Amino acid sequence: MTRPRTPPSFLHPANAPENPSRPAGPRPSASEGLRLIKPGVRNSPGYSLSSPPAQRKLNQNESPFDFPPELKREVLDQAAVQSWQRYPAFTPQDLQTALAPYYGWTPDGILVGNGSNELIQATLAATIGDGDVLVAPTPTFSLYRLLTAVLGAEYVPVPLDPDFRFDVDRLIGTCRREQARVLVLNSPNNPTGSALPEDGVERLLRETEALIICDEAYQDFGGPTAIPLLATSSRLVVLRTFSKAFGLAGLRLGVALAHPEVARELAKAKLPYNVNLISLTAGRVALRHAGAMTAHVREVIAVRERFVARLGRLPGFTPYPTAANFVLMRCDVRPAADVFRELHQRYGILVRDLSAVPELADCLRISIGTMEDMDAVADALEQIGRSAPAQ
Ligand code: PMP
Repeated sequence: MTRPRTPPSFLHPANAPENPSRPAGPRPSASEGLRLIKPGVRNSPGYSLSSPPAQRKLNQNESPFDFPPELKREVLDQAAVQSWQRYPAFTPQDLQTALAPYYGWTPDGILVGNGSNELIQATLAATIGDGDVLVAPTPTFSLYRLLTAVLGAEYVPVPLDPDFRFDVDRLIGTCRREQARVLVLNSPNNPTGSALPEDGVERLLRETEALIICDEAYQDFGGPTAIPLLATSSRLVVLRTFSKAFGLAGLRLGVALAHPEVARELAKAKLPYNVNLISLTAGRVALRHAGAMTAHVREVIAVRERFVARLGRLPGFTPYPTAANFVLMRCDVRPAADVFRELHQRYGILVRDLSAVPELADCLRISIGTMEDMDAVADALEQIGRSAPAQ
């Protein structure tokens, strides 16, 4: 009897290299490979975040509430009876159907993504390339600039006003002058917390010709939504996420809402089977228990209001108005980087240091945690403010 031939796979022990982590011979020079990387990518810093361990982790705008244990169990029980050797649904209709009434939009105009990050990428990949212009208010979420560079398009920032409010007239003027193909609006805006008023998107749709991406990752915590405008324009894409309000950042589930025919085109720019079956299941379970999530959101908002009010009374620090689950804070008497370091090293509190962002050189961004977390932050800032050098 002849033995079946074994394919030359590294999974087969006979083919395993002796020390797979260490290829034999000297490492080749990188230059030949690097020459072929696009300039937009080589010149981009890439997205990175150092997140050292901390007792109170308030640097990524995550929910302070984990997905409830009984719902995790429900997700895992439901996932366990599905076939893991099969690809997940190509078009996850069950989830799209469940999302439709939640967002008030039609299931065929809904795309799900591996986090809303993936849907930002897919939307930009489908819309901009060499020579196109993308306009965005600044400062805002850094990923838009990075992806624009990767795609070879031009990123044109439009400053928020001195109080970090959206400058709609200036956005309109810039989009027209630059013949912008895409305008990205993140409302509430990360990292400032500011929200675009109700009629802002409407005016921008009316007075520009750009495709408008409304990134509403934080909308569950406040500010108006652009979703009703989907019924009036096919130049609008609204992005939402399960990472923040639903406490599911670890499972990566995002949502794009658009005119069904536009959604069909955007779907071509995302990977097939982009959301795994556990995350698809978690999305359906989360929606069935949306009431519990709403209670968490209400709690975060209440904690935020209390924290912002206390910050407002603390000498040495100025909070900016926020509609999100974080607050931008100006450090008035000590450099932000020093306050960041002291919060972390002395009090075990990790926030986001924004001092490298030109417009935010004296600012920190603090995610809203539990009431206890925020009391600890305010107590620590009170101490730090007291030890500030006399002016
Ligand atoms: N948009 C904004 C403005 C964000 O701040 C984030 C998270 N940092 C995202 C999108 C991405 O969220 P996710 O991929 O987790 O859905």
